[in-house]
Amino acid sequence: MDTELRMPTFERFAAQLELLRTSVSFGLIITQLCGMLTVILVLRGHISLAVLFVWAGVSLTVLVLRRSWLKSLNLRGMTDYELTRTFYKMMAGTITTGLLWSIPYCMIASEVPLATQYICLMTIFLLTSISLGTASIVREHYVVDVASALYPIFWFYFLNYWTYEHNIVLGIMLMLGGTALIVRSSTVYHNYRRMIESNWRNETLFAELSGISETLRTRNEELEDARKIQTVLANSDELTGLFNRRFFNRTLSSEWRRARRSGAPVSCIMLDVDFFKPYNDNYGHPAGDVCLQLISKCLQEAVNRAGDILARYGGEEFVVLMPGITSDEALAVASRIAERIKLEEIPHEYSSVSEFVTVSQGIASCRPNDDTDGSYLINLADEALYEAKEKGRNTTVSKSGSSQLQVVTSWQ
Ligand code: GH3
Ligand code: MG
Ligand code: MG
Repeated sequence: MDTELRMPTFERFAAQLELLRTSVSFGLIITQLCGMLTVILVLRGHISLAVLFVWAGVSLTVLVLRRSWLKSLNLRGMTDYELTRTFYKMMAGTITTGLLWSIPYCMIASEVPLATQYICLMTIFLLTSISLGTASIVREHYVVDVASALYPIFWFYFLNYWTYEHNIVLGIMLMLGGTALIVRSSTVYHNYRRMIESNWRNETLFAELSGISETLRTRNEELEDARKIQTVLANSDELTGLFNRRFFNRTLSSEWRRARRSGAPVSCIMLDVDFFKPYNDNYGHPAGDVCLQLISKCLQEAVNRAGDILARYGGEEFVVLMPGITSDEALAVASRIAERIKLEEIPHEYSSVSEFVTVSQGIASCRPNDDTDGSYLINLADEALYEAKEKGRNTTVSKSGSSQLQVVTSWQ
């Protein structure tokens, strides 16, 4: 299977033209100008200066016009047809410049001494050789460059073979010299082509790699999002959206250790919906679910300190962990919770304590020491909750870990 990247012909042609476009540089004009000055210097005694200046002026104007036209060109976005047309126009410019050397040469060659003639011929040949470096970016372009600058002169010598005995030799030499230049240009052309293709391959590979790394980055982000969602789902309760018991227990042990190090208090509220079984049995399970969702909403509004952990502990039991909170402050939170639920006025005809849904709360507060762990706080809160139920429900009981001091508060 051919896995090598191949540059499309059209793209290569466009890249070649782009290089060719920039090759008609200021340097090329200066080189041509030097050639013109040489020719004017050697011909000045034989041809009228006015004629020479007109010729140089026309040649220079053609060069400047070619350069400014090429500079204004934007090859990007051109169709195949437009590119070909542009290429032909470039060739026309090159042919004009070449002919502006060869035709005047043929016209004056017979009028000037042989030495002067040969200096001019050498100048033209040199200029054509120099342009091999850039004009051969497109092979056909250099062929017309050589053909327009040298072959008319070849024909001139060839057709005037009787004027001087060595004219035929000169003609043949020019023919061979021009052909040698064209053959030589082939290597330069191939090198340019290789350079353009390797450039294109590098750019294509780079673009592909950028695309792949972009895809990988997006995939990674998606995975990271999925992982986050999974973590959230693993830690939250499906019905209420609160944290679940698993997450609560994990957080409790880490908060417990932290409080043990810092000596800060930790408080916990264990909360249970009163007479929830009769509620469920009479209003139905779906209504029971809605009731639990309403209660969790009330809890979220009442427990709003950053760092507090609110979780569904199981069934109709909820738990609030409050690191750094004393029993008095926890009591204030419990009071807020009871008030908020009362405000919701969820009808409960089958409750023995109120016409609306109520909750019992057990508060536990302590300063963790080395002999205890998080379960101590939970057990204490559970005991307090049990006592609150015993007290007749819709009640809060607070237990402090150090002194086992019991505060009983009723919200009835
Ligand atoms: P107490 O006042 O002593 O707390 O009595 P209770 O009826 O509230 O307590 P009990 O433990 O007897 O009943 C709890 C009920 O909660 C039983 C169960 O059907 C219901 N329950 C537990 N989880 C869910 C739930 O996810 N959705 C619904 N709708 N009901 C639930
Ligand atoms: Mg219960
Ligand atoms: Mg209950």
